[in-house]
Amino acid sequence: MERMQSRIRIVVDIFERRYPSEFTPLPDIPDGLLHWYRTAFSAINVDALPPATWHDCEPDMDREIELLLCSRQAMNDVLESDALGLCILTTPDTDPFGEGTEHVGKLRCAVVIDQAEVEARLLEEMRKDGENWPTFLWKYEEAEAITAFHELAHSVLFASNSLWVSPQAAANLHESGSFNYDLFDIKTGYGIRALPDEGGVLRDAEDADAAYDLMEEWCELQGRLWYCEAMAGQTLGFYDALGLDPDAIWQRGVAVDDPSNCQI
Ligand SMILES: [Zn+2]
Repeated sequence: MERMQSRIRIVVDIFERRYPSEFTPLPDIPDGLLHWYRTAFSAINVDALPPATWHDCEPDMDREIELLLCSRQAMNDVLESDALGLCILTTPDTDPFGEGTEHVGKLRCAVVIDQAEVEARLLEEMRKDGENWPTFLWKYEEAEAITAFHELAHSVLFASNSLWVSPQAAANLHESGSFNYDLFDIKTGYGIRALPDEGGVLRDAEDADAAYDLMEEWCELQGRLWYCEAMAGQTLGFYDALGLDPDAIWQRGVAVDDPSNCQI
């Protein structure tokens, strides 16, 4: 029963559809890929970490996290980031969620889906491995697809540390002196909870830099665990779902590399 109560619902949608604006047309994200993410996220059990009880304020968030697929343009211009994936805690100046607050009232992750970018990264990896690329295809694919799971881990860690108090409410409570911990502390768990280090040993961070590193390590590991769990229920790979054909990309890439094809 306790476990059921802590289960987190993941809502997967296209950012520009859920939060439309005149500046961001609907991106060219294949339905198959949206389906891929929905299948993946419905296949994993996402629970909050055991509560680190440090306040008794009422939570103001549902146990729900949005995973938003978006275009590169939306990430850059609306979410004001050049990242591939983002766990959104501070409201961008464009106020895409219409909350009108400095920090957000709900946890959301955004992930860029840009076929040309994915293809360029795939070709770069293929060139590094040369003819052996098919052996390593699963690794390129994992590195690509894992971003969403990594960002989800950041959201889950925040929720677990804030005890489902939203970033905006947590910032207010810190400002008013009710919360000892600020958003950085809550995001990383600094002073709130120990996290496993690279060797799996639980560690309390000794300073902010260590807290940041521990947070990233945890998110990396947790993201990978969820990705592997999700893959058990998938019939398609990420590249297939995105409509990429690695063989064709390799052939085209090799043709470009061939000096006899030089047009100059
Ligand atoms: Zn991260």
